[in-house]
Amino acid sequence: MRRFITRGAREELCAEIKAESCGMVIFGASGDLARRKLLPALFELFRRQLLPANFFILGGARTEMDDDAFRRSVRESLAEAGSDSELEEFSGFCHYIAGSYEQPVLYEALKSRLAELEAGCLTGGNRIYYLATPPVLYPVITEGLGRAGLTSDAAGGWSRVVVEKPFGRDLVSARELDRALLRYLTEQQIYRIDHYLGKETVQNIMILRFANTIFEPVWNRQYIDHVQITVAETLGVENRAGYYDQTGALRDMFQNHMLEMLSLVAMEPPASFDGDRHRDEKVKLLRAIRPYSPWDMDQFLVRGQYAQNSDKNLPAYRQEPGIKSDSTTETYAAMQVMVDNWRWRGVPFYLRSGKRLARKVSEIAIAFKPVPHSMFAGLMPENLLSNVLVLAIQPEEGIALSMETKRPGPHMCMSSLNLQFSYRDVFGERSGNAYERLLLDCMAGDQTLFVRRDGAEVAWNVLDPILQQWQEETGSLCFYPAGAAGPEQAEALLAKDGRAWR
Ligand code: NDP
Repeated sequence: MRRFITRGAREELCAEIKAESCGMVIFGASGDLARRKLLPALFELFRRQLLPANFFILGGARTEMDDDAFRRSVRESLAEAGSDSELEEFSGFCHYIAGSYEQPVLYEALKSRLAELEAGCLTGGNRIYYLATPPVLYPVITEGLGRAGLTSDAAGGWSRVVVEKPFGRDLVSARELDRALLRYLTEQQIYRIDHYLGKETVQNIMILRFANTIFEPVWNRQYIDHVQITVAETLGVENRAGYYDQTGALRDMFQNHMLEMLSLVAMEPPASFDGDRHRDEKVKLLRAIRPYSPWDMDQFLVRGQYAQNSDKNLPAYRQEPGIKSDSTTETYAAMQVMVDNWRWRGVPFYLRSGKRLARKVSEIAIAFKPVPHSMFAGLMPENLLSNVLVLAIQPEEGIALSMETKRPGPHMCMSSLNLQFSYRDVFGERSGNAYERLLLDCMAGDQTLFVRRDGAEVAWNVLDPILQQWQEETGSLCFYPAGAAGPEQAEALLAKDGRAWR
């Protein structure tokens, strides 16, 4: 039977996301996230003409400033990103309101400011409230908005609230946060953001797995030996010491990015790329993770912290400004995860993430099993290189498949090579920054790439027993020199199974 490519349907899929007219209130507009991520993403959307025609930004924070001062600070922080005329035009979208989040007077002032801006900008009462403040303020701001009647969809437009990670510190506090948000909002109004889900390669996992026939038949325990997920940073805690020392790698990276990537790689095919069908499958997968028992944690988990390197040019974590000299916060974690379902029985997923490591890299590597029999004299199957499919996320986005091939010449000599695809080389244009995509989705009301309440809770369910054990038992902390590949114990985690990190 001949199959025809239905071009119309394909084009419909890649039609540009249609952002609806709206005003975006950024609480914490004077902060690091707003300056480094949100305003640059909004500016880029503006340059690419992807912002809705009717749009405004209203920055909010405690710092006293008027609109002009805020616009100046916006232009300064974006100075490298565009021409003077673009910056001038973009900053025209920006307005500012100062106040204390605990005071009802802020929300009354916000109400009249929004009414005034909406009348001028014709945004139809559609509002996005972006909570870019310390997390303790999320319930405070939501309550302030709710009490002032600013979260109700009834006034003609819609209201959506974007919540930044961390979504709580553990299961109990995550549930408390959800309860506080849900007093004034519905789940459909809450956009929990994990910016990894906005990255091209992360979204491409779904296209690779579910829009190609060749992968699905081998995507299981029969052909896959193991999976490695790595997010390694060369930087230390930089200017976020206060936050990081209270948080650590497990909460900062595993609760969200690492488990999100694991669920995308391992979930069952959703019936449709619809927000809820897709998130149902991710949650189902996380529920299938085998819990650790207190007596086998040491065997499957590694908890590390960086120490000073031998050249003494990189400080230990405990020497960083703002970090306690006896801190036991982990700057590195590695874990072996087993997924107890039909597809993955017996296939280990090794996850690792840390700071001050030798190289900056984010990738998912799917290692296939060796061939069952070698027809090449003297070569055992395990002497042949196993195929590894690498989904590279950072620093370059792309895909590579390693394979054995014949070297030219009269002998049967083999070489291992990589079939490689780089987003930049193939598509040329820069791939959008993750925040651009996610902000656009929020303006379009698409929650597919945002974390649902049950997803956040089930991730805490996996991590809570580990966090508890680590809190009680500080002896399990091991040290690695700053700038190294990680603790030796992380090598042992794979070596015990006859494997090694890539
Ligand atoms: P900041 O520490 O820079 O705080 C943001 C703003 O909140 C500050 O500019 C400050 O504005 C206000 N603020 C700070 N402390 C208080 C306080 N105690 N009471 C009232 N207001 C306060 O945070 P970030 O911008 O780094 O992060 C914002 C949120 O986003 C956090 O929840 C963080 O976890 C999350 N996040 C941040 C990332 C990043 O790269 N920065 C990455 C991922 C998530 P003012 O004093 O003017 O009121």
